[in-house]
Amino acid sequence: MTRVFNFSPGPATLPEPVLRQAAEEMLDWQGSGMSVMEMSHRGKQFMGIHAEAEDLLKELMQIPASYQVLFMQGGALGENAIVPMNLIGATGRADYVLTGDWSKKSAQEAKIYGEVNVPVSGDASKFTAVPPQSQWKLDPGASYVHICSNETIGGVQFHWTPETGSVPLVADMSSDILSRPIDVSQYGLIYAGAQKNIGPSGLTIVVVRKDLLGRALPITPSAFNYQIQAAADSMYNTPPTYSIYIAGLVLKHVKAQGGMAAVAERNARKAKLLYDFLDGSSFFRNPIAHQDRSLMNVPFWLKDTALDAAFLHGAEQRGMIQLKGHRSVGGMRASIYNAMPIEGVQALVEYMKEFERQHG
Ligand SMILES: *Cc1c(COP(=O)(O)O)cnc(C)c1O
Repeated sequence: MTRVFNFSPGPATLPEPVLRQAAEEMLDWQGSGMSVMEMSHRGKQFMGIHAEAEDLLKELMQIPASYQVLFMQGGALGENAIVPMNLIGATGRADYVLTGDWSKKSAQEAKIYGEVNVPVSGDASKFTAVPPQSQWKLDPGASYVHICSNETIGGVQFHWTPETGSVPLVADMSSDILSRPIDVSQYGLIYAGAQKNIGPSGLTIVVVRKDLLGRALPITPSAFNYQIQAAADSMYNTPPTYSIYIAGLVLKHVKAQGGMAAVAERNARKAKLLYDFLDGSSFFRNPIAHQDRSLMNVPFWLKDTALDAAFLHGAEQRGMIQLKGHRSVGGMRASIYNAMPIEGVQALVEYMKEFERQHG
């Protein structure tokens, strides 16, 4: 068996020990005589798996007791509608900070449910930087302020938390949740599709301050109503059981590796390796403002884009896949989430050096 270094932006690479344990338990989970996939979501066994995953998430992210964790479905794009349906009714309007493709998409979807205002946009810098808070024109009557903490396509990331006063801060953390310690108490709501840093697709994580429950617009589908899901402990309807099980194994793995501080330190080391190389090269480039660079998704371009195909082909031959940039921006992108080992980044940098020597 040969496993590749998978730089996919999502669904993304998972820790090998997690996959091995899942394989071992596939046909018979801990003497139950069945796979987790076959269990009743209301049975004692799955309820235990569910509770353990939730407890681990609370522990790792240090989620205060005043917050509700929800395991939902529909992905982050589903949440682009579900968030406004549940929250925008407070005042009928919300602020959306634009830092790239994903936040623009969130703002677009929210317009269906209320008035959307844009306190600031990274447009002027072609979304190569996060506009500093001094430039934001926040609406004190907004129901919430929405940000995307890490723009997976553009490669910019918030390395600070915005101050929004009494207006709840909502963050799409799909591509950097669990990559570093954060102070949950500074947010009203955090959401993330699981398939970047937590587990398989199908599971969507929502962490919401309990006082924000109960504001849903009457049109909100019951399965997407935070209050109804909270009252049912995320079991109003059948949750994505197998994805929750794998997420639980990943969370256990993260805990065993030393928790968030240790994970953040490793992620910073991996990203530095790649950015240091890019900055020293006149052959590859990354145009993102240094202080706003993503530690999770590193887009880079060759000076001569005619060499892109050769670069990607060579990478694949060396067991490094999914390095093609998003179709909207071209070039290359290395997604180096928690489960990407440093060896993968080292192998990529070695190959980039070799490619530069040959073609530079
Ligand atoms: C991947 C991603 C999405 C899309 O998530 P889905 O689960 O496919 O709906 C949205 N926002 C960000 C920041 C992402 O990285």
